Amino acid sequence: MESRADKQARAGRILELLGPLYPGRRPLLVFENPFELLVSTVLAAQCTDAAVNLVTPALFARYPDPASLAAAPLPDLEALIHRTGFFRAKAQHIKALSRQLLERYNGEIPRTMEALTALPGVGRKTASVVLSSCYGIPAIIVDTHFSRLSRRLELASSDRPGLIEAQIAGLLPESDWTAASHLLNRHGRALCHARKPGCAACPVRGLCPVRGLCLGSL
Ligand code: SF4
Repeated sequence: MESRADKQARAGRILELLGPLYPGRRPLLVFENPFELLVSTVLAAQCTDAAVNLVTPALFARYPDPASLAAAPLPDLEALIHRTGFFRAKAQHIKALSRQLLERYNGEIPRTMEALTALPGVGRKTASVVLSSCYGIPAIIVDTHFSRLSRRLELASSDRPGLIEAQIAGLLPESDWTAASHLLNRHGRALCHARKPGCAACPVRGLCPVRGLCLGSL
């Protein structure tokens, strides 16, 4: 059984090896300010970042701030974001959260997990993206790639996002949280795919308990 100290050391080495391969520490979503990132991340639920990036230029050209988006007609919002899926619920969420931003925060984007997750359609993942990318606050972003990688690498043992976040938070120093989020996400996209992980070419293969034995169920 791997000791906690050994696991921490292994996690650190994994991040060291992945770091040079994936230098970007920003979301793949295109944004100009915290409001755009918040809305874009809400739209990215059950949707690819690439698809979101296709709709947001027109969305933010027409509704560039909480005031304009809060006043937007729902049918127009639905049409603009249609291709991101679940467009009716998402349109309601981004309109409602814009209204709350106006009413509670004078149109500013709050800087705490508690305040962000109180907004319509905003979960911990979305809040973590905003906190880390816009305000430099360390955060663990548990998306589908991070979840899969953290379990395959046996850095976390749960399939529940909240528990994964807690386990990683207990394993890594805060200063590594944001980098770890982006590195595991990128490695999942690039090589450690859900169905066919590229273990033979994986630079952390020697540190991965399931190397070569991966099953699509993970
Ligand atoms: S060795 Fe395979 S399962 Fe492990 S991280 Fe690399 S690609 Fe993923």
